[in-house]
Amino acid sequence: MSRTYVTHLECSMTGQAYAAGELHNLSEAGKPLLVRYDLPAIKAAVARDELASRPATLWRYRELLPVEPEHIVSLGEVMTPLIELPTSAAKLGVPGEQVIVKDEGRLPTGSFKARGLALAVSMAKQLGVERIAMPTNGNAGAALAAYGSRAGIETFVFCPHDTPEINVREIALQGAHTYRVNGLIDVCGRIVGEGKQAAGWFDVSTLKEPYRIEGKKTMGLELVEQLGWEVPDVIFYPTGGGTGLIGMWKAFAELEALGWLGQQRPRMVAVQAEGCAPMVRAYEQGEEFAQRWEDAHTVAAGIRVPAAVGDFLILRAVRESGGFATAVSDADIEQARVDAAQDDGLLLCPEGAATFAAYRHALADGQVSRDDRVVLFNCGSGLKYPMPDQAGFVDADAEVDYAALLAAAEA
Ligand SMILES: *Cc1c(COP(=O)(O)O)cnc(C)c1O
Repeated sequence: MSRTYVTHLECSMTGQAYAAGELHNLSEAGKPLLVRYDLPAIKAAVARDELASRPATLWRYRELLPVEPEHIVSLGEVMTPLIELPTSAAKLGVPGEQVIVKDEGRLPTGSFKARGLALAVSMAKQLGVERIAMPTNGNAGAALAAYGSRAGIETFVFCPHDTPEINVREIALQGAHTYRVNGLIDVCGRIVGEGKQAAGWFDVSTLKEPYRIEGKKTMGLELVEQLGWEVPDVIFYPTGGGTGLIGMWKAFAELEALGWLGQQRPRMVAVQAEGCAPMVRAYEQGEEFAQRWEDAHTVAAGIRVPAAVGDFLILRAVRESGGFATAVSDADIEQARVDAAQDDGLLLCPEGAATFAAYRHALADGQVSRDDRVVLFNCGSGLKYPMPDQAGFVDADAEVDYAALLAAAEA
């Protein structure tokens, strides 16, 4: 007998049902599968306020997760803090408590990919998988490598050749068989997909297995609980494959079905980079699906995703929520990163900085107001990315000119 509340899986496009307890990739329609739960049974079994007494990890939402307890693979998935940007907000004429960063860089492997891969690897273990592969721009591969090693599952990771060096190295160091590929993420994805038969691995590419969404969903559960069972007015989310945005949207619906949240929803804003903005283009053209973006480039590697299998789910959530999709330039991303670090001491990753840049634009354009309570997602640790070299030099063998130091600091 299963000790979870999962009833079945469901095609996100056609609604066709699939049995839980079996390995699945995409549905027959080639679309992501969503996990469905017996929500009335969960509602009867647990009260919202019981959660507060449980450990502060994503596993506190266990009734809304598909893993049987003995198969949980964990590296300490802490609840991530909400951090205000008081000085940045003041410069924008916004009350300090209105702009909050959810800092996902505190999770194992330094990014929120840990949420998705903790679930995907735990489920793979539960279902008896022994070998896993994925394409990655960096953070997902690192999380897969770490959780795979933890679970004793063999992992193969394929990275576009321009994946940040630190990511390629951490992936290999954490035990994955790691390869650079002369192509973008979707080319790496093709190699993983085509290798399924020949190499006998399970494909955990973004949205091509059902459980990474369930892990990312916990961002929405956690955020609502942290805000006292309320939603913010607007969420700015750095959107690549869109797992987090889709997952949070699913979380809000499940919370409403449990009676833990009302009908209110945040406006969901999908933030992309100007050099890779397939969702923004599809949103602006009123399309249900997005065309592949050619020659994708941006410093924000985590959102350099030219084609997303969950495109219609991202666009649907954005539209249903009354939100929008918007792109920012790499120059704006770099500037936002510097400003948040220097004004408020918070080191963002480029993808997180993209949400801050997009918020500033949206405020200037009147797409959001100064009264809106806004949550920006910083999805990875800023320490994992290249930083500008801004240090001066002091010659320890000469006499130090302190007056010159202070004058330089003033300038
Ligand atoms: C993967 C990643 C993203 C994009 O997340 P999705 O939910 O797949 O759209 C954003 N930022 C960082 C740091 C990432 O690693």
